[in-house]
Amino acid sequence: MTPNPTSNDAEPDWQPRPRQRVMTDAQVEEFFRALAAIEPEPKGELNFTNPYTLLVAVALSAQATDIGVNKATGPLFQRIATPQDMLDLGEAALIEHIKSIGLYKTKAKNVMAAAQILVEKFGGDVPQDREALETLPGVGRKTANVVLNMAFGQTTIAVDTHLFRVANRTGMAAGKTPLAVELKLEKRVPPQYGLHAHHWLILHGRYICKARKPECWRCPVAHVCLFKDKTQPQG
Ligand code: SF4
Repeated sequence: MTPNPTSNDAEPDWQPRPRQRVMTDAQVEEFFRALAAIEPEPKGELNFTNPYTLLVAVALSAQATDIGVNKATGPLFQRIATPQDMLDLGEAALIEHIKSIGLYKTKAKNVMAAAQILVEKFGGDVPQDREALETLPGVGRKTANVVLNMAFGQTTIAVDTHLFRVANRTGMAAGKTPLAVELKLEKRVPPQYGLHAHHWLILHGRYICKARKPECWRCPVAHVCLFKDKTQPQG
């Protein structure tokens, strides 16, 4: 499988190694200290205007790139800001906006069904707890965690393919499934870094600790990373 550098796919593309060494608490703290020193306020790369449009953007981003989603949602979010707006827009018009995104038919159906539920059961608001969010069509644990973190400031960790790889490879939180990694990270991330941990790890995996060839020679956390096969610059 060819890794997609900006994929939001939750499926792990990197398997944990047997007998992976485990970072100490001090190493984990130093890892986040170093990333925070470089980028104190890391941001996700999906565009949105409020909790509802964030929910829509994240739901559309499954197996798609943030850039592709942003292209489609730019004009869409000029027209809709609430679940009722989405219902008024209708599924056919939504499809016209998002047909450049993979799985757009299924995603359109889910977005419309979720809008209906939000209006009928939640007064048009996006609920602020995971259990309620996961009752919405097309919203799984990862999407719920992104919304809780980015819209409501909760210290949740959404494990995408990049974060899964970094957590395993570095020895910070080894696990065979995204959920196992998430639960370990919840215990390991120092509280002062909880809010931004998810973005630091995702962006680090996307741009430096890449799937095929991590760029260890320019990595700001190489001094605490336990990956055995650190890379050197080519040439
Ligand atoms: S040293 Fe290499 S493997 Fe470790 S976090 Fe940095 S890029 Fe990833």
